[in-house]
Amino acid sequence: MVINNCEGVGVTVENMKIYMDNSATTPVKKEVVENMILYMTENFGNPSSIHDLGKTSKHAIENARKKVAKAIGAGESEIYFTSGGTESNNWAIKGIAFANRNRGKHIITSSIEHHSVLHACEWIEGQKFEVTYLPVDKYGLVSPEELKSAIKDDTILISIMFANNEIGTIQPVEEIGKIARENRIYFHTDAVQVVGHIPIDVTKMNIDLLSLSGHKFQGPKGCGALYIKTGTKIETLIHGGDQERKRRAGTENVPAIVGLGKAIELATDEIEESNKILFEMRDSLIRGLITIPKTHLNGHPTQRLANNINVNFEYIEGESLLLMLNAKGIFASAGSACNSSSLETSHVLTACGVKPEIIRGSLRLSLGMMNTLKDVDKVLEILPEIVQKLRNMSPLTPQEYRTL
Ligand SMILES: *Cc1c(COP(=O)(O)O)cnc(C)c1O
Repeated sequence: MVINNCEGVGVTVENMKIYMDNSATTPVKKEVVENMILYMTENFGNPSSIHDLGKTSKHAIENARKKVAKAIGAGESEIYFTSGGTESNNWAIKGIAFANRNRGKHIITSSIEHHSVLHACEWIEGQKFEVTYLPVDKYGLVSPEELKSAIKDDTILISIMFANNEIGTIQPVEEIGKIARENRIYFHTDAVQVVGHIPIDVTKMNIDLLSLSGHKFQGPKGCGALYIKTGTKIETLIHGGDQERKRRAGTENVPAIVGLGKAIELATDEIEESNKILFEMRDSLIRGLITIPKTHLNGHPTQRLANNINVNFEYIEGESLLLMLNAKGIFASAGSACNSSSLETSHVLTACGVKPEIIRGSLRLSLGMMNTLKDVDKVLEILPEIVQKLRNMSPLTPQEYRTL
């Protein structure tokens, strides 16, 4: 791996780390960091101040807003900066629910959403709303037919993620958007794993609300945005000053917003090029990994993010696998970053019908543009050895899958 911020440090190839956890977070691009520094030093003004220093910051935010709008085919006035994907998801769900409660109290989502959607929906249920959690098929796909039959007279919101962060499955978003529009229901999509990775056009896809997060496309952490289509009835969650057109109060995180703007521009400009490279790495990894006996690919074979590989190895414990990979300088994850510390069984793989004893042996490798085919080869060399070692140690492994 070539770490973009470490030029000249003199790291040798041998002790280089292989970072394959890009769905958890990505390194900030050098150009992005440089842009950000300027707004922490020279241009430190509060965008609400009326003097020139304030105006410089204000201008930088509006410039970033333009870039975000352009990246998803929205209007500038439809972009609101937030503290990240989690806040954007919370705002979309709670904000739509409370602003439209006179129209209805029913919300439809899926059973494989990120916890920032699922837990917001669960909280909303406690506020006398009703939530339908759509099931998914074995690939993690929501069925448009099932969505149609879940719609009721009082459905006010459909919130379905664009692509899943654990298994990479991409939903039929355009079809879902069409159904939502035909039924005059707001459609929110958590596109945190998608922005900067797949081209998005909110108009063509009939999306009313879309969540994105800077640190998933080589921008800074703690900064995201919510796209809210003009005319959408939504409640404000954070009250205070007049920032973000009085819809999201608090002094703007100017350096991060500037960084997010730069990062989204760079990522969307490079989508085609980077996807080509990622597809090649992803597919060699998948091809290589499934030659290990009793190994299964999770998620959809083709309709999946270019950077996502998720597999189960039977008879072993994902945690041990991660620790052994870590010891070899390979950084991966079991499912989502959020689940990895809690040892919780993946709700995504459970919804896909994977048996609990098999979920235990799951591994997610998520690629980024710092990875190379050399990294892929290295992983394909090391990983099968570790799997075999663990299988030899596991009491669950049948004799035929052991070696002496
Ligand atoms: C990372 C992630 C989030 C949360 O975004 P943060 O900016 O980390 O709060 C939400 N949804 C998905 C699909 C994600 O991958």
